[in-house]
Amino acid sequence: MNKGKLIVFSAPSGSGKTTIVKHLLGKEDLNLEFSISAASRDPRGEEVHGKDYYFISLEQFKKHIKAEEFLEWEEVYRDNFYGTLKAEIERIWAMGKNVIFDIDVAGGLRIKHKFPEQTLAVFVKPPSVDELKRRLKQRSTESEDKINMRIAKASVELATAPQFDTIIKNYDLDTAKEEAYQLVKEFVNK
Ligand code: 5GP
Repeated sequence: MNKGKLIVFSAPSGSGKTTIVKHLLGKEDLNLEFSISAASRDPRGEEVHGKDYYFISLEQFKKHIKAEEFLEWEEVYRDNFYGTLKAEIERIWAMGKNVIFDIDVAGGLRIKHKFPEQTLAVFVKPPSVDELKRRLKQRSTESEDKINMRIAKASVELATAPQFDTIIKNYDLDTAKEEAYQLVKEFVNK
Protein backbone atom coordinates (compact mmCIF):
# COMPACT_ATOMS: atom_id res chain seq x y z
CA MET A 1 0.00 0.00 0.00
CA ASN A 2 1.21 3.49 -0.80
CA LYS A 3 1.66 5.00 2.63
CA GLY A 4 0.98 8.71 2.87
CA LYS A 5 2.34 11.17 5.40
CA LEU A 6 1.01 11.61 8.92
CA ILE A 7 0.40 15.13 10.22
CA VAL A 8 -0.24 15.35 13.95
CA PHE A 9 -1.68 18.45 15.64
CA SER A 10 -1.64 18.25 19.41
CA ALA A 11 -2.33 20.85 22.08
CA PRO A 12 -4.28 21.44 25.25
CA SER A 13 -8.03 21.63 24.72
CA GLY A 14 -8.99 25.20 23.72
CA SER A 15 -5.70 26.05 21.99
CA GLY A 16 -7.35 26.36 18.61
CA LYS A 17 -5.90 23.22 17.07
CA THR A 18 -9.27 21.98 15.80
CA THR A 19 -9.82 25.30 13.97
CA ILE A 20 -6.35 25.05 12.41
CA VAL A 21 -6.89 21.43 11.38
CA LYS A 22 -10.23 22.35 9.75
CA HIS A 23 -8.52 25.18 7.88
CA LEU A 24 -5.87 22.79 6.50
CA LEU A 25 -8.52 20.27 5.46
CA GLY A 26 -9.91 22.95 3.15
CA LYS A 27 -6.61 23.18 1.25
CA GLU A 28 -6.86 20.71 -1.61
CA ASP A 29 -3.19 20.90 -2.52
CA LEU A 30 -2.28 19.27 0.81
CA ASN A 31 -4.28 16.10 -0.05
CA LEU A 32 -5.33 15.60 3.57
CA GLU A 33 -7.99 13.42 5.14
CA PHE A 34 -9.03 13.73 8.79
CA SER A 35 -8.38 10.76 11.03
CA ILE A 36 -11.69 10.16 12.76
CA SER A 37 -10.97 8.96 16.28
CA ALA A 38 -13.09 6.63 18.33
CA ALA A 39 -14.36 8.30 21.53
CA SER A 40 -16.30 7.00 24.50
CA ARG A 41 -17.83 10.37 25.38
CA ASP A 42 -21.22 11.68 24.20
CA PRO A 43 -21.45 14.00 21.18
CA ARG A 44 -21.25 17.74 21.97
CA GLY A 45 -23.21 20.45 20.17
CA GLU A 46 -23.26 19.84 16.42
CA GLU A 47 -20.91 16.87 16.42
CA VAL A 48 -21.75 14.02 14.08
CA HIS A 49 -20.93 10.32 14.40
CA GLY A 50 -18.59 9.21 11.61
CA LYS A 51 -17.49 12.78 10.90
CA ASP A 52 -16.10 14.27 14.11
CA TYR A 53 -15.68 11.00 15.98
CA TYR A 54 -16.88 7.44 15.99
CA PHE A 55 -18.89 7.72 19.21
CA ILE A 56 -18.87 4.29 20.83
CA SER A 57 -19.67 2.94 24.27
CA LEU A 58 -16.97 2.45 26.88
CA GLU A 59 -17.61 -1.27 26.64
CA GLN A 60 -17.08 -1.29 22.87
CA PHE A 61 -13.97 0.82 23.29
CA LYS A 62 -12.49 -1.69 25.71
CA LYS A 63 -13.21 -4.50 23.25
CA HIS A 64 -11.17 -2.69 20.59
CA ILE A 65 -8.31 -2.30 23.09
CA LYS A 66 -8.37 -6.00 23.89
CA ALA A 67 -8.40 -6.95 20.21
CA GLU A 68 -5.37 -4.66 19.66
CA GLU A 69 -7.23 -2.68 17.03
CA PHE A 70 -5.88 0.70 18.11
CA LEU A 71 -2.75 2.37 16.78
CA GLU A 72 -2.85 4.43 19.96
CA TRP A 73 -5.43 5.22 22.62
CA GLU A 74 -5.59 7.30 25.79
CA GLU A 75 -7.91 7.80 28.70
CA VAL A 76 -7.62 11.53 28.04
CA TYR A 77 -9.98 12.42 30.89
CA ARG A 78 -11.38 10.08 33.52
CA ASP A 79 -13.64 7.54 31.77
CA ASN A 80 -13.30 9.47 28.51
CA PHE A 81 -11.31 7.26 26.17
CA TYR A 82 -10.10 8.39 22.76
CA GLY A 83 -8.15 6.39 20.21
CA THR A 84 -7.04 5.98 16.62
CA LEU A 85 -8.14 2.72 15.04
CA LYS A 86 -5.56 1.07 12.79
CA ALA A 87 -8.36 0.55 10.24
CA GLU A 88 -8.89 4.32 10.05
CA ILE A 89 -5.34 4.95 8.86
CA GLU A 90 -5.54 2.06 6.39
CA ARG A 91 -8.78 3.57 5.04
CA ILE A 92 -7.10 6.92 4.41
CA TRP A 93 -3.90 5.47 2.96
CA ALA A 94 -6.03 3.34 0.62
CA MET A 95 -7.49 6.62 -0.72
CA GLY A 96 -3.93 7.75 -1.51
CA LYS A 97 -4.17 10.61 0.99
CA ASN A 98 -2.13 12.04 3.85
CA VAL A 99 -3.61 11.68 7.32
CA ILE A 100 -4.18 14.63 9.65
CA PHE A 101 -4.78 14.04 13.38
CA ASP A 102 -6.32 16.24 16.05
CA ILE A 103 -5.26 14.31 19.13
CA ASP A 104 -3.91 14.76 22.64
CA VAL A 105 -0.19 15.18 23.27
CA ALA A 106 0.49 11.63 24.47
CA GLY A 107 -1.26 10.11 21.44
CA GLY A 108 0.50 12.52 19.11
CA LEU A 109 3.92 11.62 20.43
CA ARG A 110 3.10 7.92 20.25
CA ILE A 111 2.35 8.23 16.53
CA LYS A 112 5.55 10.20 16.01
CA HIS A 113 7.54 7.42 17.71
CA LYS A 114 5.83 4.69 15.67
CA PHE A 115 6.37 6.45 12.33
CA PRO A 116 9.28 8.86 12.90
CA GLU A 117 10.08 9.66 9.27
CA GLN A 118 6.52 9.81 7.98
CA THR A 119 5.17 12.03 10.74
CA LEU A 120 5.21 15.78 11.25
CA ALA A 121 4.24 16.39 14.89
CA VAL A 122 3.05 19.94 15.56
CA PHE A 123 2.29 21.41 18.98
CA VAL A 124 -0.14 24.33 19.08
CA LYS A 125 0.66 26.68 21.93
CA PRO A 126 -1.99 28.95 23.44
CA PRO A 127 -0.98 32.44 24.67
CA SER A 128 -1.54 31.51 28.34
CA VAL A 129 -3.49 29.25 30.65
CA ASP A 130 -5.80 32.20 31.46
CA GLU A 131 -6.57 32.64 27.78
CA LEU A 132 -7.32 28.91 27.52
CA LYS A 133 -9.76 29.24 30.39
CA ARG A 134 -11.45 32.16 28.67
CA ARG A 135 -11.77 30.26 25.38
CA LEU A 136 -13.17 27.13 27.00
CA LYS A 137 -15.74 29.18 28.92
CA GLN A 138 -16.71 31.05 25.76
CA ARG A 139 -17.25 27.75 23.97
CA SER A 140 -19.62 26.90 26.85
CA THR A 141 -20.42 23.42 25.63
CA GLU A 142 -19.34 21.86 28.92
CA SER A 143 -19.94 22.02 32.63
CA GLU A 144 -17.67 24.04 34.94
CA ASP A 145 -16.27 20.76 36.30
CA LYS A 146 -15.28 19.50 32.87
CA ILE A 147 -13.71 22.83 31.96
CA ASN A 148 -11.65 22.76 35.16
CA MET A 149 -10.55 19.20 34.36
CA ARG A 150 -9.32 20.36 30.94
CA ILE A 151 -7.46 23.31 32.42
CA ALA A 152 -5.74 21.17 35.04
CA LYS A 153 -4.47 18.92 32.27
CA ALA A 154 -3.27 21.83 30.14
CA SER A 155 -0.24 22.66 32.31
CA VAL A 156 1.02 19.08 32.08
CA GLU A 157 0.48 19.09 28.33
CA LEU A 158 2.29 22.40 27.83
CA ALA A 159 5.43 20.86 29.30
CA THR A 160 5.59 18.30 26.46
CA ALA A 161 5.86 20.95 23.72
CA PRO A 162 9.67 20.59 23.24
CA GLN A 163 9.22 16.93 22.25
CA PHE A 164 7.35 17.92 19.07
CA ASP A 165 8.96 18.60 15.68
CA THR A 166 7.66 22.12 15.76
CA ILE A 167 5.62 24.55 17.86
CA ILE A 168 3.06 26.98 16.44
CA LYS A 169 2.10 29.85 18.73
CA ASN A 170 -1.59 30.53 18.37
CA TYR A 171 -1.64 34.15 19.53
CA ASP A 172 -3.30 35.35 16.36
CA LEU A 173 -5.45 32.77 14.58
CA ASP A 174 -4.88 33.95 11.00
CA THR A 175 -1.11 33.99 11.48
CA ALA A 176 -1.21 30.52 13.06
CA LYS A 177 -3.32 29.14 10.19
CA GLU A 178 -0.91 30.47 7.57
CA GLU A 179 2.12 29.19 9.46
CA ALA A 180 0.51 25.76 9.74
CA TYR A 181 -0.29 25.73 6.02
CA GLN A 182 3.29 26.57 5.01
CA LEU A 183 4.74 23.95 7.36
CA VAL A 184 2.46 21.17 6.19
CA LYS A 185 2.88 22.09 2.52
CA GLU A 186 6.64 21.81 2.82
CA PHE A 187 6.40 18.45 4.63
CA VAL A 188 3.92 16.77 2.27
CA ASN A 189 5.91 17.85 -0.77
CA LYS A 190 9.22 16.59 0.64
P1 5GP B 1 -12.57 16.68 22.88
O1 5GP B 1 -13.38 15.97 23.94
O2 5GP B 1 -12.37 18.12 23.21
O3 5GP B 1 -13.09 16.45 21.50
O4 5GP B 1 -11.13 16.02 22.90
C1 5GP B 1 -10.41 15.87 24.06
C2 5GP B 1 -8.97 15.60 23.75
O5 5GP B 1 -8.81 14.28 23.20
C3 5GP B 1 -8.39 16.55 22.72
O6 5GP B 1 -7.10 16.94 23.15
C4 5GP B 1 -8.36 15.70 21.50
O7 5GP B 1 -7.39 16.17 20.61
C5 5GP B 1 -8.00 14.35 22.08
N1 5GP B 1 -8.21 13.24 21.15
C6 5GP B 1 -9.14 13.16 20.18
N2 5GP B 1 -9.00 12.02 19.50
C7 5GP B 1 -7.96 11.36 20.03
C8 5GP B 1 -7.30 10.12 19.72
O8 5GP B 1 -7.66 9.38 18.81
N3 5GP B 1 -6.26 9.78 20.48
C9 5GP B 1 -5.82 10.56 21.50
N4 5GP B 1 -4.75 10.13 22.16
N5 5GP B 1 -6.39 11.73 21.80
C10 5GP B 1 -7.46 12.13 21.09
